[in-house]
Amino acid sequence: MKTRKLRLSCPQCGSAEVFYSCTPNCCYNHVCSDCGTTFEPATAAAGGYVTGVIAPDPLPEATDPTTECAKCASNEVYMMDDGGLVCGKCGAKLMLELTAIAPG
Ligand SMILES: [Zn+2]
Ligand SMILES: [Zn+2]
Repeated sequence: MKTRKLRLSCPQCGSAEVFYSCTPNCCYNHVCSDCGTTFEPATAAAGGYVTGVIAPDPLPEATDPTTECAKCASNEVYMMDDGGLVCGKCGAKLMLELTAIAPG
């Protein structure tokens, strides 16, 4: 199954101009370049697994939105054609949750 890079929209203004501002071994703080809101995306298991997950090409860059798999803690979390999230490492289907929302 082919996947796409994770895309997030700002929980405050809906902008897609959202950047990852930290590193996976620290935190998942993201910032919206339009309104300055910060938030951290997290995942929860949606139930079920997908086999044969193909990572997006090109791979996400360091500032592209990133989150962590609720099952295996990998940050290879990608988007499927139906908009659902999947882990590129263990294949778990995931749901996105936005936490620590701080309006800018
Ligand atoms: Zn915003
Ligand atoms: Zn996983």
